[in-house]
Amino acid sequence: MQRLIKEYVLKYLGGSGVEVPLEALDDAAVVDDIVLKSDSHTVKPLFFPGGDVGRLAVAGTVNDIAVLGAKPVALSLGLILEEGFPIRDLEKIMKSIKETCKEARVHIVTGDTKVVERGSLDGCIINTSGIGRRSEELERNLQIVRKYRRLEARWILDSNLRPGDKIILSGPIGDHGLAVLSSREGYGFGSQIKSDVTPLNLVVSRILEVGGVTAMKDPTRGGLSNALNEWSEKSGVGIHIYEERIPIHEDVKVACEMLGIDPFDVGNEGKLIIGVVPQKAEEVLEELRMTKEGKEAQIIGEATKDFREVVLETVIGGKRIITTPIGDPIPRIC
Ligand code: MG
Repeated sequence: MQRLIKEYVLKYLGGSGVEVPLEALDDAAVVDDIVLKSDSHTVKPLFFPGGDVGRLAVAGTVNDIAVLGAKPVALSLGLILEEGFPIRDLEKIMKSIKETCKEARVHIVTGDTKVVERGSLDGCIINTSGIGRRSEELERNLQIVRKYRRLEARWILDSNLRPGDKIILSGPIGDHGLAVLSSREGYGFGSQIKSDVTPLNLVVSRILEVGGVTAMKDPTRGGLSNALNEWSEKSGVGIHIYEERIPIHEDVKVACEMLGIDPFDVGNEGKLIIGVVPQKAEEVLEELRMTKEGKEAQIIGEATKDFREVVLETVIGGKRIITTPIGDPIPRIC
């Protein structure tokens, strides 16, 4: 996917000159102080334990706007439906979109609907785009970072991480990917694994209020492995993380072992990784743990200048380099 984008999309479409452009490949773009994001959702099945395509479409876009430090203000909704798509399912999806928008305190303000002939897609595809604005919390957060060190960027970017920054993970990884996979394939893993899909913008504003946040990401497709490698590459730092501190639900761990999937490579839809100046890391962690989305948060490691890779220190004291996943271990989860 990364090669496809670099070699066939950016080759033609980069070079806009905006503050955070397409070629930054960040979670969203910045144009004249407005954050803009677009995301299409092709999850299969459309309804899965813990969520559905509608919830995913709202949360996905809201979260990508929020992790730049912006406040999401409005979304658009593009619906592509297959001829014969059950109205009952459409209504379920619309109710879920409404509910998720309410949670995130955003509105759908424009949209488009197309119906395509039977057989050309699996039910429905939803695109959501959205805009976000700078917020007081963001300004405050940046001021606090600058008390401790230099930071030129005006937004929370993948390239902002510096050696010494602590890395916080907001909760257990792998739930979303495994929930979608097990409902698609009909696997029973003993207990039912539920997706973590949720809008995180209100949690983000609470931690920006505490301050000291330098980088932030939602580890969606490609999971923690992909997100940390993007940070490492774009910030030019190494990342050292500790296996014993990374929360993974027991049933997810077991399911991953059975299927030969690395939970680090599995997509999440309700998690954050946060880079924080070391002086504020404990405070941010504490605030995060007071939210329902972040109650299992952990400081999982730190950025370093000692090497350039993402290195995992295992429970038995060994070291393993975490690379960007080559294939998609679980396709069509978002
Ligand atoms: Mg993202």
